[in-house]
Amino acid sequence: MAGAMIVTGAHSVILSGRTAVARIEPARSAPRITGRGRRPVLRNERCYHIQVATRSAKGFSNRVETVFIDRDGVLNEKAPEGRYVARWDHFRVLPGVPEALSKLNHAGLRVIVVSNQRGIALGLYSAADVEAVQAKFQQLLKPFGARVDAFYFCPHEKGQCNCRKPQPGMFERAVAEFPSVTAEASVMIGDSLSDIEFGRRLGMSTILIEGDLANSKPGTEEAAQIAGLRCASLLTAVDALLSSLKLP
Ligand SMILES: [Mg+2]
Ligand SMILES: [Zn+2]
Repeated sequence: MAGAMIVTGAHSVILSGRTAVARIEPARSAPRITGRGRRPVLRNERCYHIQVATRSAKGFSNRVETVFIDRDGVLNEKAPEGRYVARWDHFRVLPGVPEALSKLNHAGLRVIVVSNQRGIALGLYSAADVEAVQAKFQQLLKPFGARVDAFYFCPHEKGQCNCRKPQPGMFERAVAEFPSVTAEASVMIGDSLSDIEFGRRLGMSTILIEGDLANSKPGTEEAAQIAGLRCASLLTAVDALLSSLKLP
C-alpha cells in the first residue's frame, strides 16, 4: 500500500458548509481522435477542450468535489526522464502552483496528491525522503493560505502492486480515508499517460498538463488524445475547472 502523510481536518468543514459543484465533460465520452497530428495548445488562453473541435457547446456535466493531482511535472519541475526528484533541494515548485491550490481550497474542493515514486523501489531514496518533501511543500503552501488534504505515493516497482498509477490503489486509499470521495465527482490532473489512464479507468474527468515536450515521457501523445482537457499549467487547469463551478 502507498505510504502517506495525511493532513486531515479543515476540508470536511469547508465541504459541509459549501459543496462546490463543477461541471466538466466526462473524458470517457471524448471522441476518438485519429491521425498523428498534434493539436495546438492555447498557451496564452485557458485550455484546449477536446470537445471543442467536434461538439457544440454541450458544456460540462459532472459535479466535482475532489481533485487528484500528480506531483512531478504538475506541482514541481519534473526531473529529466530516468532521473528523480529525491530531496527538497531538488524540488522546484512550478509557477502558480500555490495560488492554484489555494483557489481549490477556497472553492471547497478536496486536494489529494497521488504520485508514483518508483525511485524508492530502485533504492535511490526512501519513503521518509518523500514524506519529508511533502511536509516541506505543505509548509511552503501555508503563507498562500493553501494546503494539500492528503498525499499518497506508490513506492513500488512496475507491475508489483495495485497502487502504481494507472492502477487504482491510491484512489481506493483516498476512499478509505475520505468515504465521500467518488470517481464521478473527481478530476485527475497529471502530465503522464499513467495519470490520464488512472483517471479514465475510474471514470473521472481528466486534465493533462502539457509541459516541456522535449522532456515528456513516452505516451504523452496518447495522453493528449484521450485527456478531457489539456492545459499548460496547474493554474490554467484550475481556472478552467473553477470557471465551470456551480455553487449552490
Ligand atoms: Mg508526473
Ligand atoms: Zn504501488
